Amino acid sequence: MIMTVVGARPQFIKAAALSRVLRKSREEILVHTGQHHDENMSGVFFRELDIPEPDHNLGIAGGTHAQMTARMLVALEELLQQVRPEMLLVYGDTNSTLAAALAAVKLHVPVAHVEAGNRVGTLKNPEEVNRILTDHVSALRFACVQSAMDELEKENLLSGAHLVGDPMYDAFLYYRERGAARPPRDLVSLKGEPLRLPGAFYYMTCHRQENTDDPAKLHQILSAMDALDAPVVYPVHPRNRAEVERLSASKGYKNVLFTQPVGYLSSIHLVSHARQVVTDSGGVQREAFFAGVQCVTILDFVCWPETMVDNRNRLAFPDRESILSALSRPMAVDPHYAPFGDGDACGKITSVLEAHTH
Ligand code: UDP
Repeated sequence: MIMTVVGARPQFIKAAALSRVLRKSREEILVHTGQHHDENMSGVFFRELDIPEPDHNLGIAGGTHAQMTARMLVALEELLQQVRPEMLLVYGDTNSTLAAALAAVKLHVPVAHVEAGNRVGTLKNPEEVNRILTDHVSALRFACVQSAMDELEKENLLSGAHLVGDPMYDAFLYYRERGAARPPRDLVSLKGEPLRLPGAFYYMTCHRQENTDDPAKLHQILSAMDALDAPVVYPVHPRNRAEVERLSASKGYKNVLFTQPVGYLSSIHLVSHARQVVTDSGGVQREAFFAGVQCVTILDFVCWPETMVDNRNRLAFPDRESILSALSRPMAVDPHYAPFGDGDACGKITSVLEAHTH
C-alpha cells in the first residue's frame, strides 16, 4: 500500500492524474496536510478533478516555514507509524513534500518523489530547499524532463531516477481532450461579484514571495499589466491577497481584473486562450508552453529550462519596462519539440511503483 501526501494546489492536479492510474493496481491512502484549505484553493480541485476524498486531513496551514513544516513532521510521523505504508509518494517542492519525506525516511519508509531533479540554482528560493532535501532522501526519483535528470546526475542521485515525463502534461492533455477546459463560470471579483471574461485578455498569476513581499515590486508588475492592450485576468492567491487589495485601492490598475482563484479547468482555459501569459508559477509557465501560448515569467531564475526556447518563455524582472520588453518579443513554436513526455508519465510512474510494492 502506498501513502500519498498532498497539501497544495499544484499537487492536487498531479495527484488527480496519477491516482487515476495508480489506483487500478495499487491501494493508495491519500493524506491532505491542509496547507491549502479554502474551497477555491482545495475543495474545487477535489470535486472537478474527481480526486478521491482524502483518507486523512491534518488541517495544518499557516505560520512560518519552520512552524508549518514542524507541525506536519510531527503529525505525519504519527500517521506513518499507524498506517505503515510500503512507500510514501510525494510531489513537487512544498513544505508538505519535505515534511512527509523527512518523516518517512526516518521510519525507513522508502520515498518516491515526483518532479525530482528540478533546480533553480538558489537557496533563497524556499522551494529549492524542499526540492534538494526531498531528492536526497528519496529512493525513487521521477524526473519530468531531461534537464532534471542532468541535475540529479550532478548531485550523484541517478540511482532510482527515472525520466518519465510530466504528470502536469498528462493532466493538461487528459482534461483538454475531454473538452473539460471551459470558460470560467467561477470568475468572481475579490469582493465576490461575478465577472465576465473579456473576449481578448492576458492571463496573469503572481504569488511567489520573491515578487509579492515587497509592495514596490508588485506595483511594478501591476503597472506593466495596466499598460497592455487588453484586460489582464489575475486570480489572486490568498498568500498575497491583502497586499493586492491595498495596492489596488490606492493605485487603481483599471486594466486588471482581480479575481478570486479559479478552478483548474478554468485556469487551463484561461492559459490556452490568453494573448500571452504572465506568471511566476512553475505550473502555469509549463501550461502556457503546452498550449503554445507565449509566456513571460517574472523570476530571476529559470525553473523549466525546456520552455526557454524560441522566446516561448522569457524571464523578466519585477520591473515595468523589463516585463513590457519581454512581452514584445515574437515567439516561434516548433510543433515537433515535445520535452515533457508523451502524456503518459503517470503510466510510467505506476509501472515503477508496481515493481517496488506488492
Ligand atoms: N491554477 C488554478 N487556479 C488559479 C491559478 C492557477 O487552478 O487561480 C492552476 C494552474 O493552472 C496550475 C497550478 O494551479 O495548474 C499552479 O499552481 P501554483 O501556481 O499555485 O503553484 P506552482 O505551479 O507555482 O507550484
